Amino acid sequence: MFFPMKKETKKRFLNEIFIGKKVRKLYGNNIYMSVAKKYLLNGSIVVTVIDSTDILHEAARLHGLGALPAAVLNRVLTVGVFMGRDLKNEEDKLSVIVSGASEDGSGGESVKIAVAAKMDSVKGYVEEGRLLINGEAKKYCEKTDNYEKTDGEADCGNGGKKISENKINSENETDSENTINAEYKTNGETECNAAKEINSEQKINYEDETTAATAFKNAADSAAGGEGYITVIKDSGMKEPYTGRSELVKGDLSSDFALYFTVSEQKPSAVVLGEYFNGKKILAAGGFFVQVLPGADDFLITIVQDILRDFGDFGKMLRELKTPDAIMDTYFADFDVKKIDEFTPRYFCGCGGERTRNIIRMLGRAEAYEILKNVGMIEARCDFCGKIYRYGAKEVKEIFEQK
Ligand SMILES: [Zn+2]
Repeated sequence: MFFPMKKETKKRFLNEIFIGKKVRKLYGNNIYMSVAKKYLLNGSIVVTVIDSTDILHEAARLHGLGALPAAVLNRVLTVGVFMGRDLKNEEDKLSVIVSGASEDGSGGESVKIAVAAKMDSVKGYVEEGRLLINGEAKKYCEKTDNYEKTDGEADCGNGGKKISENKINSENETDSENTINAEYKTNGETECNAAKEINSEQKINYEDETTAATAFKNAADSAAGGEGYITVIKDSGMKEPYTGRSELVKGDLSSDFALYFTVSEQKPSAVVLGEYFNGKKILAAGGFFVQVLPGADDFLITIVQDILRDFGDFGKMLRELKTPDAIMDTYFADFDVKKIDEFTPRYFCGCGGERTRNIIRMLGRAEAYEILKNVGMIEARCDFCGKIYRYGAKEVKEIFEQK
């Protein structure tokens, strides 16, 4: 279709294409689906193995995330896949929110990571600047080539801007080598602007792949630590939504989610989340979930716990063994294993602009028309997929007319 484009629009349009290419160069076109399988061990322990590698890459592509924030977001997405499968109906949905203390000192909370899941799909985002980078994660960030110090403080990532920002501020071109200029500091720890560590290749000064992979694992394990909460809201559309909640206490998301399931949902659980990073890109990512059914034999539980301790690096295991079946064959060969479910989760948003229209409604008529007067159109971006909806005078009028 040919249509006359304003100079500004054209610039933005070209910008989007260029960024798209850049990200595909890094992550490639993923043509395989994520895989999830559920097994029953000796009739009393349910094991779910999820390979969410392509969900991670899709999230990274949509949000323009670098490897570390993409890995942390994917850990919550993987939990979303796991929990979403237990929903009863196609329309049912749930949200998993990881939040920390708000920065304004009000005692409130701020969302760090938000994930929404349905039976076979997930979507989510990392709030900019809200990933707490400390300990191993900070060390990892300091090792990147693009690590810079501003006034003696560490900042994470290799510059660049979030894709969506690039789309809007077309003047900034597609410069992913922007200098780092943001600082986020709480209680002496440096926070990483998730959007800063972005869609150009990671340049890590590690001697070899194994060292890089281990450093990355340690970084991802500690990246979402700090005080905060896990909140889960399940909405089946029928009655009041169910809300479950637990505190972030362990310092890594695997242990904190295990605690959530065990305490808040009263399902004794173990969770192992991980990914494999080869120094350049993430080659495998996923999760391993164990839930003990009522009446399970204590001895059996102890054996499973021992096996989990032997796992070591789950991301590396997934990279090497490749499939959930191979992992089960390798580690649980002595058990009576029955495959009870198999599905192919994906990253899917499916927004149709309703959300953004609501945001404009909430802005109110006066403010909406003020923006229209100044800018000529209103742009609103979907948090989950980055899709930008543009509304001109005619569409804005319709938004306020329809109810
Ligand atoms: Zn969307």
